Amino acid sequence: MSGGGRTAVVTGAGSPRGIGRAAADRLARDGWAIAVLDIDADGARATAAEIGRERGVPALGVGVDVSDQASVDAAIAEVEAGLPPIVGLANVAGIASPVPFLNETVESWDRVFAVNARGTFLVTQRVVRGMVERRQGRVVSVSSVAAQRGGGSYSRVAYSASKAAIIGFTRALAREVGEHGITVNAVAPGPVDTDIMGGTLTEERKAALSADTLLKRVGTRDEVAALIAFLLSDEAGWITAATYDINGGLQIS
Ligand code: NAD
Repeated sequence: MSGGGRTAVVTGAGSPRGIGRAAADRLARDGWAIAVLDIDADGARATAAEIGRERGVPALGVGVDVSDQASVDAAIAEVEAGLPPIVGLANVAGIASPVPFLNETVESWDRVFAVNARGTFLVTQRVVRGMVERRQGRVVSVSSVAAQRGGGSYSRVAYSASKAAIIGFTRALAREVGEHGITVNAVAPGPVDTDIMGGTLTEERKAALSADTLLKRVGTRDEVAALIAFLLSDEAGWITAATYDINGGLQIS
C-alpha cells in the first residue's frame, strides 16, 4: 500500500493538542496524503495547511459534523474530488461526558452516541463503499479503556457505552469486509494528555489519572498516533478485528 497516491482520512484532527492531529501528522510523515476532518472547520483547514507545508504531502481540511449524514457525505465527496483514493480511515472524532448516571438525560446520552457511535458508523460506511470497490482499505477507530473498565477516570456511563459500541462495530464490520481486503481495528487508549477532559491537565490531575497505571504516567498523543499509523500501514495487513490496549497497563490494574 505504500508509494503512489493514497489518502488517509482522519476525523477529529482539527484540535491542536489532540490525538487526531498527531495521527494526521504521523501519517503524513509516513507519506500519506491527508484529509483532516473536524467540526471545527477553521481548525481543520489550518491543521491541513500546516501538515501539508511541513510534511510536503497533499492535505485538505474539511469541516464536518460526523453525526450528520449529509455533512459526512459532502465532506467525503470533497476529499474524493481533491485527493488520491482513500485507503486509510482513522475515526478519532469523539466527545467526553462526565455526567453521573442518575443525572444523565436523553439529550446528553443521545449526543454522546451521535458523535462517538453514529459518527463512526456514518463516516466508515461512506468511506468503505469506495474501499470495497477498490478492494483495499484500512479502518481504525478510537475506543477507550473506559469501554473495558467502565470509565474510572473522567467520563462515565454514556461515554463508556458509546466506546464499547466501537469495539462491537469493529469486530462485526471486520467480518463483513475482510473478503474485500479491508482490515478494521480499534485502539483503546487510557488517559492521554489532550483537552478532552475539560482542558489542559494539571500535574496533579495527571498523577491522579495515572495512579492505577503500571507506568505511572499518562500517555502522549504521539504514542497513540504511532499505533494508529501502524494499524493503517502495509505491515499491519494480517491484523483485523483487533482492539489494541494502549494505556500504560491500566487494563490489568
Ligand atoms: P480532542 O477533544 O482534542 O479531540 C476530539 C476532536 O473531535 C476535536 O478536534 C473535536 O473538534 C472533534 N469533534 C467533536 N465532535 C465532532 C463532530 N461532531 N464532528 C467532527 N468532529 C468532532 O480530544 P482527544 O483526546 O484527542 O480525543 C480523540 C479521541 O480519542 C476521542 O474519540 C476520544 O474519545 C478518544 N480518547 C481519548 C482519551 C484521552 O484520554 N484523551 C482516552 C481514550 C480515548
